[in-house]
Amino acid sequence: MLLELSGLSSHYGRIPALKGIDIEIAEGELVALVGGNGAGKTTLLRCLSGVQPVSGGTIRFDGADITAMPPDQRVGLGIGQSPEGRQVFGPMSVEDNLRLGAYRRHGPDVAHDLERMYDLFPILRQKRREAAGTLSGGQQQMLAIARALMSAPRLLLLDEPSMGLAPLLVAEIFAIVQSLKAAGTTIFLVEQNAYAALKIADRGYVLETGSVVLADRGDRLLADERVREAYLGL
Ligand code: ATP
Repeated sequence: MLLELSGLSSHYGRIPALKGIDIEIAEGELVALVGGNGAGKTTLLRCLSGVQPVSGGTIRFDGADITAMPPDQRVGLGIGQSPEGRQVFGPMSVEDNLRLGAYRRHGPDVAHDLERMYDLFPILRQKRREAAGTLSGGQQQMLAIARALMSAPRLLLLDEPSMGLAPLLVAEIFAIVQSLKAAGTTIFLVEQNAYAALKIADRGYVLETGSVVLADRGDRLLADERVREAYLGL
């Protein structure tokens, strides 16, 4: 397993936000974590990137226990995140945002990956010299994903990439996520948009009030009566 969460718990003060989560992601998999508002999705991602204290359980990455590892070292290990709400650096150019994603890397690979990002997201090439803050919401989302990819992650964490986007753009972003997976990237996709996420995921987990209540193949979860009622409004 590339990533293994066992019995992961986290609290805000005395209030539990995660209550013993077990999640596994194998190399090359696209795994979705879906759940409604306040289920604990963001807390879980914060635990993974190391900015949220873990109160129980372990996080293993490629076999090593990283539960207590500082965030920057996790980036060095290959855990790259595209944060919720995009958080691109508005006054900086698109290209500088991308270069910042590669801040730990040097050499010709970085230039090569920059070109790869421009091939993957042609609109970013077109706007490479413009301030990131002037991009549309969908374009900023693409920039945030591309910036995370610039760290050459072994595991890409995506926090709600569809948030605030019109349906056509959601489809475009998810098509890109699918192509990243096809190219071999291991992806953990955290989404409120359960339908779009489970449709492209190999496997999925459903999170409710800090616990995993369902875990199965993406297509099976999409067909599951409980998922259809609670998350798909069917
Ligand atoms: P959303 O999609 O709305 O971001 P989420 O699934 O990401 O929801 P979290 O943000 O992880 O959920 O929140 C999980 C629980 O922890 C919620 O009950 C929330 O109210 C609580 N919580 C989140 N952040 C804090 C905080 N800083 N202090 C106290 N409680 C918090």
